[in-house]
Amino acid sequence: MQNLLLAFSALLSLGDPVADAPRIAVELVPAITRAEIEAHVRFLAADERKGRFTGSPEAELCARYMAEVFARQGLAPAGDDGTYLQRVPLSKTSWSAAPELALTPTGGETSAFAYGRDFDGGNGYPAALDLALVVASSEADLPKADLARTALFFDGSTTQRKRAFEAAGLGAGESLGLLLVPGFDESPARPATVPRGRLELASRARSESVRPVRVHGAALKKLRQSGGARLAFDPHVTREEVGASNVAAKLVGVGTPEQPELASEAIVVTAHYDHLDGHHARGGPGVDTIWNGADDDASGCAAVLEIAGALAHEKPPARTIIFLLVTGEEIGLLGTDHYLDAPIVPLERTVLNLNFEMIGRPDDKIGGSGKLWLTGYDLSSLGAACAAAKIAVLADPYPNEHFFERSDNIAFVRRGVVGQTLSSYNLHKDYHQPSDEADTLDYVHMEACTRAGLEALKLVSSGALRPAWIAGKEPKRR
Ligand SMILES: [Zn+2]
Repeated sequence: MQNLLLAFSALLSLGDPVADAPRIAVELVPAITRAEIEAHVRFLAADERKGRFTGSPEAELCARYMAEVFARQGLAPAGDDGTYLQRVPLSKTSWSAAPELALTPTGGETSAFAYGRDFDGGNGYPAALDLALVVASSEADLPKADLARTALFFDGSTTQRKRAFEAAGLGAGESLGLLLVPGFDESPARPATVPRGRLELASRARSESVRPVRVHGAALKKLRQSGGARLAFDPHVTREEVGASNVAAKLVGVGTPEQPELASEAIVVTAHYDHLDGHHARGGPGVDTIWNGADDDASGCAAVLEIAGALAHEKPPARTIIFLLVTGEEIGLLGTDHYLDAPIVPLERTVLNLNFEMIGRPDDKIGGSGKLWLTGYDLSSLGAACAAAKIAVLADPYPNEHFFERSDNIAFVRRGVVGQTLSSYNLHKDYHQPSDEADTLDYVHMEACTRAGLEALKLVSSGALRPAWIAGKEPKRR
């Protein structure tokens, strides 16, 4: 589950056991069992997995573990090149120091500006620059030549800048050596600190437009007054490509005698296996700083693995079921967005994303053990269908927490697919803490919840229900 404020390889051979697969500490049987659920959670949430940060070796080991479980359960691989793993290419930006910006008027003294207080932004620029400064406030002032050797300070609003750039054929300013814009008239009180590293989908990073340097307060005044000057900018960044993986398996639908066309439709069942390693936590000798993410979301992954294993031994579903265990949820739904860029079954024929997120502890608000709540319960026909079928799936009791928008389902929703999350998160205080440990989960509750989730899924995989948004309540696409 994402923080509210964020709402921010091994190749496998077809059908073979996974190369250098981690050991599975339980015998897998073709049914949902408490022992298997617990074994999956204990593997994923062990301290040795170091909190499964996206792209980390420990997270990749977890991906191989889950791939091995799918393989042994007899599910068809749905990842790259006939494997269970789907590569998620990421771009990692790291800062070695706070960015530096310095202004040297001709014949004058250099002013060094402080990152955070005097300026911020400038994320798109990879290398240190020393450029001639041009100050402009209209199309007429814009430089016509030597753009790459120019630091342009455009002294106007975003709208004014866009209009002037468009008229001058400058696009978003990509061809400029550096683009600076006015920030706040009063400097923010923030101190200059080194920005934290950032991961994003490589496909998005490449298409990123320029992010201007914003200049604030006294520094802004100096910039406005400087006629003829040089400007030095050092972003202190390095960019590297990082690989991460989703894990994907499928059960191919066969339709029904009455509705053979259901075979061309799919349901995507998701949970996220990444977590936040615990770099936020305060360390010290003997202090546990690992965010294990047992409830968030090893619990959901265990449910998805068990549902897949149980269904693999039943007669084939009417609609195809794709089981997708994703990376990068905690840092911006990256794994799911990657899947949605190239879905296994086209999104027009994807009828539901059913997402499992934090089902490790009972929630007294909805009646305790064995019960789940569904985000967006009133928005689609799924909640009422569960109620009619007497499945223990109830309405999300925490509308103010915006859980509908805080997990992978919302990425599906933004692309027009009905997407909802099953959870029993009771707002416990171990969320995003070193204390989210496997020992704190209730495996009796989880087993019952996994069965309830399976029943809800069957309503749709059998073809009995095609979930739809309630008229007038359709959530916004992006
Ligand atoms: Zn989370």
